[in-house]
Amino acid sequence: MEPTRSNHAASVGASLARLQQSAGITGTAPAKCQDHGDYIANTLADGGHTSCPTCAQQRLAVAEAEERVEQQRQAIAAKLERQLGQALIPVRFTTKTFENYRTENDRQQVALSACQGYAANFTEHAADGRCLLLLGHVGNGKTHMAAAVAGVVVREHRRNVMYTTVARVCQQVKASYGKEAEQSEREAMDLFRAPDLLILDEVGASYGTDFERMVMFEVINARYEDVKPTIVISNLAAPALVGALGDRTVDRLREGGGIVVKFDWDSARREVDRG
Ligand SMILES: [Zn+2]
Repeated sequence: MEPTRSNHAASVGASLARLQQSAGITGTAPAKCQDHGDYIANTLADGGHTSCPTCAQQRLAVAEAEERVEQQRQAIAAKLERQLGQALIPVRFTTKTFENYRTENDRQQVALSACQGYAANFTEHAADGRCLLLLGHVGNGKTHMAAAVAGVVVREHRRNVMYTTVARVCQQVKASYGKEAEQSEREAMDLFRAPDLLILDEVGASYGTDFERMVMFEVINARYEDVKPTIVISNLAAPALVGALGDRTVDRLREGGGIVVKFDWDSARREVDRG
């Protein structure tokens, strides 16, 4: 037999009462919220009563809004991580930061401060096209430092970065020669011209063939014309670098007050921690 409407209502009322009892609710009473005025509160076995439903709704809305903001923040962070991946920084350097660069002497501290300063003030340096030259011994963490700068430039300044080596630039340009080439020399050059910051590693490693000197001038001059900064990493000291790159390229790097950071201390860990 179908339960009548009143029977049904009575049974719902009874289960509601049991539910309220188990939750410690003893009845209802009028209550007042300072912000939202009168409401009917549930009175509780311990003498208290439930809080304003409008306040509860508002707290929920705030929590939901915070969650949306957090989701957006995570989406932005994920996008930045992808961009950092696209910077083509070698895998072993993607986790390198200023925080995990170990300083054991004063000169390391000077180098660290100079690179941190460059990263922190990247907006100004970029506006002036000011280049950064990291010069010195193998194993003193020049690439680590450049990767740390890249991380700040991408994550904090939201600018794009490309890391490459001189050998790779030369390969790309060579590959553009000939009728079968997939891209023109102009397109190959544009690849290195486009990024807000270009990191050029292993500069002068082959002590500068004429071709390398020509390509380096083309890339650095194109970026100079666009007022875009380049970070140059080399194991050579300044005088040898001039020999490897040529005067006019070095002049371009100096324009706008290029900053030279020396990594010229002897590293005890040089044999273990190359780069
Ligand atoms: Zn309220």
